[in-house]
Amino acid sequence: VSREKQAADTVVDIKGTLVGAVKPQVVAGPCSVESEEQVFEVARALKEQGIELMRGGAFKPRTSPYDFQGLGEEGLKIMRKAADEFGLKVISEIVNPADIEMAEQYVDVIQIGARNMQNFELLKAAGAARTPVLLKRGLSATIEEFLFAAEYILSGGNSQVILCERGIRTYERATRNTLDISAVPILKNESHLPVLVDITHSTGRRDILLPCARAALAAGADGIMLEVHPNPAVALSDAKQQIDIPTFDTFIKNLRASRLLDEKP
Ligand code: PEP
Ligand code: MN
Repeated sequence: VSREKQAADTVVDIKGTLVGAVKPQVVAGPCSVESEEQVFEVARALKEQGIELMRGGAFKPRTSPYDFQGLGEEGLKIMRKAADEFGLKVISEIVNPADIEMAEQYVDVIQIGARNMQNFELLKAAGAARTPVLLKRGLSATIEEFLFAAEYILSGGNSQVILCERGIRTYERATRNTLDISAVPILKNESHLPVLVDITHSTGRRDILLPCARAALAAGADGIMLEVHPNPAVALSDAKQQIDIPTFDTFIKNLRASRLLDEKP
């Protein structure tokens, strides 16, 4: 993953959508896939804004075993169907190495979540796959540990890896996690891999999404990730941090107005 090994930026090609090239990308979608209607509503909103990458969790790594665990393969099928209908690409988290082959039928990018950043068997399985991987920084991972986790995937033969800063654990409780904005230029300097910033999970706060997105892009991130839900109040996970579709539309318009995102294609 080191710049010393490869000086040129890696561009991850998600069936024609490039991450790490000139144009910053937006990855948006619900925390969890809940229903076909829900995902279709979000997919339509992304399409209308010219956003190409849709996220949505089907295998949810929840803190409590009593919380909604996701729809599993059924959820991936819904994501695929909606993405095909609106010409989008699918990013979804996989938690079990044995599910990667199954997931590759439906997803365009395999997400490895923060809680699994050091699940080495999962990293090896992702390295053996030929589907691009979005690797999130662990909750308490140093930048060095994060890059070693990515190294597992590349050393396994999969060069298509996107790094995602998603906030780290600190003593601060004003935000859900602490967005480590300095990780962005450090990762960009030390590694040739593209870097995204998840502004939703790092902050856990809708009211500061826009300035945090601006900061991420100004610091050199190749894109941002955020959670969008048609009706966040009734969401089965992360109800407090997802934004609704009108708020998303305004958010994207504001980023475009500050010229941190390209105009709608
Ligand atoms: C997610 O993106 O759905 C998620 C669970 O995030 P993280 O792994 O960063 O907590
Ligand atoms: Mn979430």
